[in-house]
Amino acid sequence: MINLSTAGTRMPMQAPEERTKNLNEVAEGFTEEMAVREALRCLQCREHPCMTEGCPVSNHIPDFIRKITEGEYEEAYQILMETTVLPAVCGRVCPKYLQCEGNCVRGEKGRPVAIGALERFVADLHRRRVLAGELQEPVSMEKDPTGKKVAVIGSGPAGLACAKDLASAGYQVTIFDRAEVPGGVLAYGIPSFRLPDEVLSFEIEGLAAAGVQFEAGKELGKDITLDSLLGELGFSAVFLGNGTGSPMGLGIPGTELSGVISAADFLDRLNTAGGDEKKLAEVLPGAKTIAIIGGGNVAMDACRSAVRIPGVEKVSVIYRRSVLEMPADPAELAEATEEGVEFVYLTAPLKVQGEGGRVTGLLCQKMELSEPDASGRRKPVPVEGSDHVIPVDVVIEAIGSRSENHILDGVDVNERGLVVVDPQTLATGREGVFAGGDTVTGPKTVIAAMGAGRKAARAIDHYLKKKGINGAYE
Ligand code: SF4
Ligand code: SF4
Repeated sequence: MINLSTAGTRMPMQAPEERTKNLNEVAEGFTEEMAVREALRCLQCREHPCMTEGCPVSNHIPDFIRKITEGEYEEAYQILMETTVLPAVCGRVCPKYLQCEGNCVRGEKGRPVAIGALERFVADLHRRRVLAGELQEPVSMEKDPTGKKVAVIGSGPAGLACAKDLASAGYQVTIFDRAEVPGGVLAYGIPSFRLPDEVLSFEIEGLAAAGVQFEAGKELGKDITLDSLLGELGFSAVFLGNGTGSPMGLGIPGTELSGVISAADFLDRLNTAGGDEKKLAEVLPGAKTIAIIGGGNVAMDACRSAVRIPGVEKVSVIYRRSVLEMPADPAELAEATEEGVEFVYLTAPLKVQGEGGRVTGLLCQKMELSEPDASGRRKPVPVEGSDHVIPVDVVIEAIGSRSENHILDGVDVNERGLVVVDPQTLATGREGVFAGGDTVTGPKTVIAAMGAGRKAARAIDHYLKKKGINGAYE
């Protein structure tokens, strides 16, 4: 029986006035009754554009949703695990409105099916049942061991997805990461009120239990090199999934002042502090007024984190275009607004002002949008005589990141520092070395990186089986 409601089922959330006082997850998840009711809204479309057009890893969306309607939740989980490695993570952090849900036909008349919330429900239920001892995780994914070793650089979404598929195909996979905690941007860049630590660590532990090895604190170009991996360490192939490591700066005077910090460093400090209130207060000591520069999802994570820091009185996001051009997820924008974040549009910073080496304000100018250029985008242009100072004591730069790939021996990088690959196979110019995710494309979504990791795993498998890398896409 299909549920013909166009309104859909809303996920329960912590109230704004409560959630800004803690770092607990804002969205509380579907109950079983809610999940079944929402799953019944799926039309089981034959063309299923949610999957074919919308999901970068091609999750079998109608199939797993049908299992929910039948009460077969563990079967729904197993269907998801055929294509993804982090369902509880993706169900939370995917920009679903652009992907699966953005392509759901129910969205043409009302709300799309809440595919992400259903994915999260199934994965969370699986985790709770494993932790309660009601279910066992599979001990090993290996089918027929190939005897070959593959190194994966970076334990973010691209690396994890690549590692899972290669381990399933019988390779011995080792993931190297310069950080101590695996997960890359998922562990260090997404605040716990969007992605609790235990959700990520459970999904990563599942990979470790299935035979993937993790080498923490190992940095490419410092502790290991492509030569050593492919030489004395005995790896037959390498996948580079090391993301874009360096935050971009504002490039304006005054950013050397104390009180200017990148969003990546800020979120890293916040995640390291965990839920400890004393440590949290030390993340930005003495901060009362905070400006975040940028309009993407990292800016949203930064501003929503900033309002949760004890003692902070005002948080503003400063963006040089209008709300219509803002790339952030509209749901994040709405939640940030509910939490008291102020949005200052059509404003660009010119200089960080300071006194005694500390930030005291941000000199800004108003902008207006010109006519669309050839690319269709309206360019912001300064309004003459509109300079003004916004008093702040902390400035958080959230304008993107750049790659550090100059350290890669024998692998071509472009002028933006991004690794150059064959787009079909993700093979680099160096024999046996493949790359995918942000390190190739620049910053994109978690699930796009996972899709690239899976694609590279297929190519590596074909390469190592001497089928030739182009065979991966026959
Ligand atoms: Fe949607 Fe992301 Fe899940 Fe794919 S992985 S079904 S895009 S939420
Ligand atoms: Fe179900 Fe929407 Fe996918 Fe159709 S497009 S199968 S309604 S989730």
